[in-house]
Amino acid sequence: MTAENPYLLLTPGPLSTTPAVREAMLRDWCTWDADYNNLVEGMRRDLVALAVPDEAKRAEYTAVPMQGSGTYGVESVIGTVVPSDGRILVIANGAYGRRAAQIARTLRINTAELSYRETERPDAAETAEFLDENPDVTHVLMIHCETTTGILNDIESVAHEVKRRGRIFIVDAMSSFGGIPIDMDGLGIDFMISSANKCIQGVPGFSFVIARRAGLEKCAGRARSVSLDLYDQWKVMEEGHGKWRFTSPTHVVRAFIEALMELQEEGGVEARHKRYAENQRRLAEGMAALGFRPLLSKEVQSPIITSFLYPDKTFDFKDFYEFMKGEGYVLYPGKISEADTFRVGNIGDVHMKDIEGVLAAAAKYVKK
Ligand SMILES: *Cc1c(COP(=O)(O)O)cnc(C)c1O
Repeated sequence: MTAENPYLLLTPGPLSTTPAVREAMLRDWCTWDADYNNLVEGMRRDLVALAVPDEAKRAEYTAVPMQGSGTYGVESVIGTVVPSDGRILVIANGAYGRRAAQIARTLRINTAELSYRETERPDAAETAEFLDENPDVTHVLMIHCETTTGILNDIESVAHEVKRRGRIFIVDAMSSFGGIPIDMDGLGIDFMISSANKCIQGVPGFSFVIARRAGLEKCAGRARSVSLDLYDQWKVMEEGHGKWRFTSPTHVVRAFIEALMELQEEGGVEARHKRYAENQRRLAEGMAALGFRPLLSKEVQSPIITSFLYPDKTFDFKDFYEFMKGEGYVLYPGKISEADTFRVGNIGDVHMKDIEGVLAAAAKYVKK
């Protein structure tokens, strides 16, 4: 806690950033100058390196930043990659999956949906069956970590079925990329979406898409929007060596590059994953001891964010929220219909001492 940051954000983005990330925003940059464009090119290479561990495979992939929050990135992919005679299957077990389906329908794309309860993981065998029965499905989209609950979906087994059938696989890895190792090439993911203010720990302002070049090259002229044309954004950036089509969020990009450096300094995605996972375990165990049971079983719980059930009928989240905020910790409300929950995020510049602080504050509230 500092004068400019009176409380820690335990929320899934925007999240608590380091002072160095915030300080990186103090300089102004020219959007078309080589000084800035070279930074953008380095950032794009770094993103591909994070998504594709095998160095020999990296040339087959490319990264495209897109202005706007994460949803803009999702919309740019759906709207640009599905051809007019294509059909997308959206696998949904939470609000972000449902939003992706809503985007596809709004864009008048032929859309199918496989829906699951929010506490249930999508089943790869059912995806396989659906694809066999529906050969017209060209694209499949699923969410990696459904931030609605914090459930970690099994993209590995679904990827296997999708690739065996030769369909294009799109993953919303918004809240997991940078915090959970993902081998895009190993899994056969064609398009993967994330944003600046999640596990890379930057500030909000742009999303980014990592794509298999060969897949993206086929998407010329398919977009249903000018500003969200992922292909055009990529083409201009490739040809202009880091030049954005329209005004670039320069300060946010500079902060993001600082955040990427800090991720390397921490030891990369594996080390960050370990920190998040240890923090999540301690949080869940400490909260359970105070009467706050996690919604999900350990087997499906992600290290990103945890949903806790209200301890009893008299529990007043608003009151608890205000108390915790006064103690220096901002929590997140629940978002599901099945049960009364609230959420606590682990992502961001949050360390074990902070988790101990959260638990001490929650203990004070319980004993009040
Ligand atoms: C955060 C998030 C998004 C994007 O949300 P925005 O508010 O547009 O940034 C999409 N999918 C998932 C899984 C997310 O966690």
